Amino acid sequence: MTLHIPFDNSFARLPASFHSKLKPQPVSAPKLIAWNAALAETLNITGSDDPRLAPIFAGNVIPDGADPLAQVYAGHQFGGFSPQLGDGRALLLGEVIDHAGARRDIQLKGSGPTPYSRRGDGRAWLGPVLREYVVSEAMHALGVPTTRALAAVRTGETVLRERPLPGAVLTRVAASHIRVGHFELFSSRGMIAELQQLFDYTVDRHYPSTTDPTELLQQVCDRQAALVAQWMSLGFIHGVMNTDNCTLSGETIDYGPCAFMDVYDPHQVFSSIDRNGRYAYAAQAEIIVWNMAQLATALIPLMPDQDAAVESFTKIVHGMADTLHREWLTRFAAKLGINAPTPEDGPLIGSFLRLMHDNQADFTIAFRALLTDNARDQFADPSAFDAWETGWRKRIDTEADPEALMRRSNPAFIPRNHRIEQMISAAVDGDERAFHHLNTVLSRPYDDQPDAEELTRPPLPAEIVPATFCGT
Ligand code: AMP
Ligand code: MG
Repeated sequence: MTLHIPFDNSFARLPASFHSKLKPQPVSAPKLIAWNAALAETLNITGSDDPRLAPIFAGNVIPDGADPLAQVYAGHQFGGFSPQLGDGRALLLGEVIDHAGARRDIQLKGSGPTPYSRRGDGRAWLGPVLREYVVSEAMHALGVPTTRALAAVRTGETVLRERPLPGAVLTRVAASHIRVGHFELFSSRGMIAELQQLFDYTVDRHYPSTTDPTELLQQVCDRQAALVAQWMSLGFIHGVMNTDNCTLSGETIDYGPCAFMDVYDPHQVFSSIDRNGRYAYAAQAEIIVWNMAQLATALIPLMPDQDAAVESFTKIVHGMADTLHREWLTRFAAKLGINAPTPEDGPLIGSFLRLMHDNQADFTIAFRALLTDNARDQFADPSAFDAWETGWRKRIDTEADPEALMRRSNPAFIPRNHRIEQMISAAVDGDERAFHHLNTVLSRPYDDQPDAEELTRPPLPAEIVPATFCGT
């Protein structure tokens, strides 16, 4: 059957100041690595057995109804403002309406140069493409709002990074690709009509109950606070929380240097370019507030009384700390089997985390082990755990079904860095089995899967991945 994507491209209908229209650059020998047929079905895409999937999702064949474009935006990167960024290696093919009635972007990543490529080649190599495929799909299975992966294709070409590496294209699906940086672009240039149009578009697409910027800001802050609390409850470190990687939809986007931590350490950083630990694990709670302050600043020109707006926006942004703490408390309490936490549960969580830190416990394993009799073995000094355990058991005595709550709050499987690195090395050598195996196991992260026990294990000392790199 011929592939059919029922495109309806609203972003392409926005004025030329929002994008550049151009075609992907064809590649020499497209070869399909993965096609997410289950996701395709929810997007009302038919013809998953079309033999042209590889050329289509490599950018060689433009599917009917697509209107490819690169989006332009700005953004704060590591605290410094870049007045103009944009899709430098990505093209939005268009949008579809999914089974649930929601509009979703379909974007090629690694599809060749655009007017926003600057010195980049517009390409991606296999490593980041497979990493994003595995991690974004794992995040979805873990229940985290995220962009998804629809396809991965080898280009048959080599891209030059530190060394020549196989090229690839990822097809990403997102609620939208509207970032804080989109608002910063028009706002910083004083393009108020465009800023208003972007606001209307965003509200229409993501916050239809809203009509004014104050409410939009409040709702985005709420979603982002909930998102970051959820990341932290899974030991996830985004790694590059620049405002151009921060969505208005509240989905996780950009899996460049991200990583799940093994041993619990609030100061953990993986990204090789994050030298000052700006985006360290625990810093994420403060950085998201900083990012929302940039959104607030960008929205100010839309307000009739700007002095009053500064005051009300400041209140909303500062209020995020409370929201974040509440979300954090709920998420971490659930990991301990506590359903409706009170502020007094904070210290119980805090002391468990300190115990993990002091005793080099693996974050994921230690929490999951609370469901078993050998949690104490996860701590360098098991007796330190015993004292904490007594207080914890007493606390969950009155909970209705702590075990069920813990089972769905503490994954057995996360995409561990060392497994991802091993999977990428194998794929570079032509062996894609580990990639497919990871996807299969990580699609059910909360289930015990005895056959895949090796994927629950922390890295051996020689397997530890000390640093991750952006996809560029
Ligand atoms: P990222 O680190 O993925 O958030 O990318 C930051 C900016 O650099 C974005 O505007 C990207 O489009 C651009 N960029 C990243 N990699 C490349 C590349 N290989 N070629 C061109 N532009 C790129
Ligand atoms: Mg990015």
